[in-house]
Amino acid sequence: IVLPRIENEPNRNYASGSKERADLQHAVDEMMKSAPFEVPCIVNGKHIKTGDVAKQVNPSNHAQILCNYHQADEKLVQEAIEGALKAKQTWEEMPWADRAAVFLRAADLIAHKYRYKLMAATMLGQGKNVWQAEIDAAAEICDFFRFGVAQVSELYAQQPARHAPGSWNRMEFRPLEGFVLAVSPFNFTAIGGNLPGAPALVGNVVVWKPSPMATYSNYLVHQILTEAGLPAGVIQFTPGPPAEIVKACIDHKMFAALHFTGSTTVYKQLCKDIAANYDHYRNYPRMVGETGGKNFALVHPTADVDIVVNECIRGAFEYQGSKCSALSRLYVPASLWNNGGLKEKLVSQVGTISVGPVNEFQHFMGPVIAQTAFQRIMGFIESAKKAGGQVLAGGTGDNSVGFYIQPTIIETKDPRSTTMVNEIFGPVLTVFVYDDSKADYWQAISQEIDAATDYALTGSIFSRDRKAITEASAMLRYASGMLYIGQKPTGAQVGAQPFAGARASGNNYKAGSTGFFYQFVSARTVKESF
Ligand code: GLU
Repeated sequence: IVLPRIENEPNRNYASGSKERADLQHAVDEMMKSAPFEVPCIVNGKHIKTGDVAKQVNPSNHAQILCNYHQADEKLVQEAIEGALKAKQTWEEMPWADRAAVFLRAADLIAHKYRYKLMAATMLGQGKNVWQAEIDAAAEICDFFRFGVAQVSELYAQQPARHAPGSWNRMEFRPLEGFVLAVSPFNFTAIGGNLPGAPALVGNVVVWKPSPMATYSNYLVHQILTEAGLPAGVIQFTPGPPAEIVKACIDHKMFAALHFTGSTTVYKQLCKDIAANYDHYRNYPRMVGETGGKNFALVHPTADVDIVVNECIRGAFEYQGSKCSALSRLYVPASLWNNGGLKEKLVSQVGTISVGPVNEFQHFMGPVIAQTAFQRIMGFIESAKKAGGQVLAGGTGDNSVGFYIQPTIIETKDPRSTTMVNEIFGPVLTVFVYDDSKADYWQAISQEIDAATDYALTGSIFSRDRKAITEASAMLRYASGMLYIGQKPTGAQVGAQPFAGARASGNNYKAGSTGFFYQFVSARTVKESF
């Protein structure tokens, strides 16, 4: 098929006084007024109210309930699986152009009709400020759907080039035999859309367990896909208790794949639980996991201090550091830190960051997602202090109204201290100052970065010396799945920077690339002799 031109969805900037700002503000105000919403499970196109209700609160103001959602139980998940398997044949046999059109249409509905509603749900439910909601719930989700269509078209076009005389070789990119389980995180509405969306695009059926902390925006995504023409049963929306829902899926003979974004611990446990069922499955399940990160920035003595300050602040504190890709360990040379003014500039600039409710449209940072996150992050800060870490900025939090934590910078003398090696998923940046007076300092610090953690998601190198960049890039070859030179380690764009990490950060199948879709197809090679 020949597609319309596919481009990244342009970002709007919501300048104060603009129409887009006013429209978004209106959507946010309306949503706050009308909340709480009631969210059902959606199985075979039917909205099911199970009566087992849980709530999603607004982390900017936790007294406000955004939605009450009905939770699925084991019986409903069984129904969802059987219903999905029934819906499978029609969906996979639908001409590719029609399947593609559903996702292109969903992207257009998001971009032009539901943009502000989906952004408002992401702001109020997931604590994103305007700009973070824009790059996620307006831009990236459209990009996943639109580029996904282009990339699947490329995949389908990958056909054998050799045909012996009198024969014709072809590849048939079938979906997986069975159903896919998608388990999505709270931190990106776009990932919520892509975890069930990517497998469905290539003709799979999916049972989708959204994050409890993103239920409302994820429900809207499901509604939009339905409005765009996604047939009933293709994606079953089953929020609820993870253990019960996941177990019902992975115990099923026709469980064909796990598409997961979340914590390393949970993913590893799921891998073990799935491995224990191997004798029972029709096929070896495909495992696609994007898990934790402990992302680094390595600064060379030749780096531009202002760029380092600006990029590190954005990398560490945008969306309160609640991105897998967020910067959380910074390695700086003593020569720049003290005499070069890096410390002073970084600390003073962090001191100007405002933290507050996202509906006020003016804060660089909003709340962290929940009380559990608040406690975990504050616990890390306390343990760093006890271990001798010096808090240079922030270090405090207030959860009386919302879950607010000040952007925190900790300087440590121990490169293996707790906050240098553990994923925090919050606004905490730990700095280790290395001695750059020794001859082999560049090699030594690169080796330290590589060895310090099991994660390998994202990393940045700042230097104006090409040789230093080349060397560090080689020494850190396996330390991240995403390497950024001269900028923050966050903000991968679909189609431009395919995103994933290795080691404890995931299987490193790059989301937002053609190769990604191989995980969700089971090809048949056909040779026909004439
Ligand atoms: N793709 C996002 C980025 O590059 C991060 C995704 C995540 O946090 O899982 O910043």
